[in-house]
Amino acid sequence: MQDNSKNNHSDINEKDRKYVKEIKTLIRLFGSPIKEDELKQKIEYHNGNIELVIKELVQQSVEKEDKLETERKSNELEKKQEQEQEQEQEKVTNDNNNKSVQKEMEKTEVGKTKPGINLQGHCTNENCLASKAKLPVWVNIEFDNITFISDKTSFSCPDCKKPTITSIVKAMFYNSEHSICASGDSIPVTDNNYQCSYSIKSGLSYELKANKIRQHAKSIEDLRERSEHAMNSIEINNLVTELQKYEIT
Ligand SMILES: [Zn+2]
Repeated sequence: MQDNSKNNHSDINEKDRKYVKEIKTLIRLFGSPIKEDELKQKIEYHNGNIELVIKELVQQSVEKEDKLETERKSNELEKKQEQEQEQEQEKVTNDNNNKSVQKEMEKTEVGKTKPGINLQGHCTNENCLASKAKLPVWVNIEFDNITFISDKTSFSCPDCKKPTITSIVKAMFYNSEHSICASGDSIPVTDNNYQCSYSIKSGLSYELKANKIRQHAKSIEDLRERSEHAMNSIEINNLVTELQKYEIT
């Protein structure tokens, strides 16, 4: 063992001198990143076969490039993901901005909607705050039949209490069986949805009707009749008699 290592050591000294030219050439070929020590080790490993050393160096260089490329790609991917996240964030912020704008708009309506007919219009009383701020105002007609010309109205303003709502832009039926018909329309639009909105065109005459939803009341009446009927049926009577026997009722 000791002899061997001694031999190796002397070998290395010999090769040190032997490979100086090769090392210089390789450094010139591959550039400064390659260290002399490393080259020495490689040449010794390949027993002076420079072709194999070059092959290994080229292989290393290719692997290094591959690694760099992978890193670059993963960096690009990270950047892209970051950008996407930023864009997403921006979008959320924008959405929130839009939402707050919407909220503002919802807030800036004067009055509330009630079951039946609701008309949205503008007050023309100069001293009215709603009028000054040019805010749309809700007028509650509730359950009724009404006819009006959309730009010649005199509905009472919920804010200033004066009959100065002179134009209507929107009709909203809330929780009612209703129909709406504009001048020129031969067939009225009827519906009984929970909430329906219609835009009102300027200068047209409109007829609006709203009734409480009867189907509901009807079905309750029906249910009561049916249960009364059932209670009076022979089977129930027999059952009640039976129960009375045992003093349960
Ligand atoms: Zn007003």
